[in-house]
Amino acid sequence: MGERIRGSAGVKLRKRRLARTGGLCERCEAAGRVTLATRVDHIQPLALGGEDVDENTRNLCEPCHLEVTAEQFNHAAPIEGRGIGRDGRPTSADHPWNRDRSGPPPGSKV
Ligand SMILES: [Zn+2]
Repeated sequence: MGERIRGSAGVKLRKRRLARTGGLCERCEAAGRVTLATRVDHIQPLALGGEDVDENTRNLCEPCHLEVTAEQFNHAAPIEGRGIGRDGRPTSADHPWNRDRSGPPPGSKV
């Protein structure tokens, strides 16, 4: 399994990789959206034997990163429990906040 490169060398590496797409999320770009990438994602996850090389990386924004990570691990990882949307709400449909959404707003008369 490849090891992550840490320290200042790792920061430089990350910056260089992000610069390859002009700092934009590749997944959003494919969908016609322009979103700033905040993550350098490993296409084949290091945890699954992927290599830490440029060819195995792509630049993603946080929401895309969460989505592809969940896909990569077949939703087996506890990603749903800690997924947070752009509005600060949990992304899991099972989360009480989201379940309550379908009901009447708090304080309303039923
Ligand atoms: Zn994206």
